[in-house]
Amino acid sequence: MTLDLHDYVASIPDYPEKGVLFRDISPLMADGEAYHQATDQIVQFARDKGVEMIVGPEARGFIVGCPVAFELGVGFAPARKKGKLPRETVKAEYSLEYGKSALYMHKDAIKPGQKVLVTDDLLATGGTISATIDLVEQLGGIVVGCAFIIELKDLHGRDKIKGYDMLSLMEY
Ligand code: IMP
Repeated sequence: MTLDLHDYVASIPDYPEKGVLFRDISPLMADGEAYHQATDQIVQFARDKGVEMIVGPEARGFIVGCPVAFELGVGFAPARKKGKLPRETVKAEYSLEYGKSALYMHKDAIKPGQKVLVTDDLLATGGTISATIDLVEQLGGIVVGCAFIIELKDLHGRDKIKGYDMLSLMEY
């Protein structure tokens, strides 16, 4: 039986600040069947792309990407916030509502020419995923797709990643 994954998303008004409706995938992750179904859908998307590596941004990108990597039998490399990676890194900055942030990857995380799928829990403005793509490309990786559990349509993140094949399991 196919589950309706919308039933496993919690919507929290005014979090983390007033006026924001936060979409939380914790109930989906907490349910073995729902988590497995979401993972399987992303695996199907990735399978015919010859994906050799998965990359996800801290921290929910790991939750989405790691089981996909495991199912495909490929590796996973994290994109992390400042000060978390112990060896030489590359850096990509992105804009937040107020100010800037940055993500980092180890310089040897991707081999040049490797086909990479980028994963995160949610696409909002697209800043986080664009920075993650930038890191992969700085390292010579080829981004063959981006996959999300949720896409917030009103924020038009999709426009920032035009030209990349993209999957979102749910739209709000
Ligand atoms: P973007 O960079 O604006 O696309 O925001 C996406 C990033 O922020 C992702 O890494 C999400 O985990 C996080 N994020 C933004 N809005 C939400 C939300 O409503 N629920 C869960 N995560 C969110």
